[in-house]
Amino acid sequence: METKTKKMPLKGLTLDELKDFFVSIDEPKFRATQVFNWMYNHKAVSFDEMLNVSKSLREKLAEFALLNTLEIHSTKTSSQNGTKKFLFSTLEGNKIESVVIPELKRVTLCLSTQVGCPLDCKFCATGLMGYKKNLTAGEIFDQYLLTQKNFDRPITNIVYMGMGEPLLNFQNTLKSLEIFKEEMTKGISLKKVTISTAGIAPKIKELADSGLKVRLAFSLHSCFEPIRSKIMPINEKYPLRENIEALKYYYEKNKTRITFEYVMLKGLNDREEDINMLVKLTKRIPSKINLIPFNSLQHMNPIGLSSELIPTTRKKIEDFANRLRSFNVTVMVRDTQGEDINAACGQLAIKF
Ligand code: SF4
Repeated sequence: METKTKKMPLKGLTLDELKDFFVSIDEPKFRATQVFNWMYNHKAVSFDEMLNVSKSLREKLAEFALLNTLEIHSTKTSSQNGTKKFLFSTLEGNKIESVVIPELKRVTLCLSTQVGCPLDCKFCATGLMGYKKNLTAGEIFDQYLLTQKNFDRPITNIVYMGMGEPLLNFQNTLKSLEIFKEEMTKGISLKKVTISTAGIAPKIKELADSGLKVRLAFSLHSCFEPIRSKIMPINEKYPLRENIEALKYYYEKNKTRITFEYVMLKGLNDREEDINMLVKLTKRIPSKINLIPFNSLQHMNPIGLSSELIPTTRKKIEDFANRLRSFNVTVMVRDTQGEDINAACGQLAIKF
């Protein structure tokens, strides 16, 4: 009976790992540099595109290796501002989403690190989906390659803020960052990459120690432990006080300001006492605050607390921001991008 060799997925391999692969198939190491360049810089989707690789080697690669990890299932573009949502299939048929957000001076890709998410934040559609699996480093990186190949402006910034908690898929997230960091990779430098976390304190410290100097965004949403636990159950395991210590550590190591993400929820976190606590917090950690209008979860038929959440009005968000500014806090009010295609913050849940 014929035995099938499992093909090696090449996307997601660092340059050193790619060299090891070529040695394992009795080919010289320099081939790794060529293939690395084709995969990550030219965004080749087939071995036949690799013109400076001999035909016989391309055939050998097709026999022993896999190039692609994702397929574009469908796309949707917002008529409001050109935000484009991509629905991808993994090779085993799981679905994930990424969003490209064009603005005047930059184009940001929001990518996913897990299929679904185990953390169940009450304001987030992905949390309502549950969790299926971690993405591989290749599946994470391929979102960048495929969205860039199918978007008419260069992507300038990347946020790991789509489906999933990046620090619960730590090794694969790190590996994808190492590929961005690799000297040979063109396009995005780590200074333009932001990892967003719901607060996995020990992993924040590990990320700080990794030497990968990315920006860090922390999903804060309340400075009060009981309220934060109510809307973000992970706070029971890693309370805010522990995360604040980890964030201070991250700042000390990397000297980049922390961004606090703050979804505005009527009556829960938009009160005077919330302003006071935010002022205190930002005095302890060099940081800025992004105030995010809460986007409807109605496309998910939410139940429990998720169904009771009410957005703070736009006027009240502006007043809240101005009160914070009066205490010299740096605040941005985030625009809602792509709500018409369920691509706005917290809305990603495979609903096309
Ligand atoms: S906000 Fe982030 S961490 Fe929380 S459920 Fe959604 S995807 Fe997961």
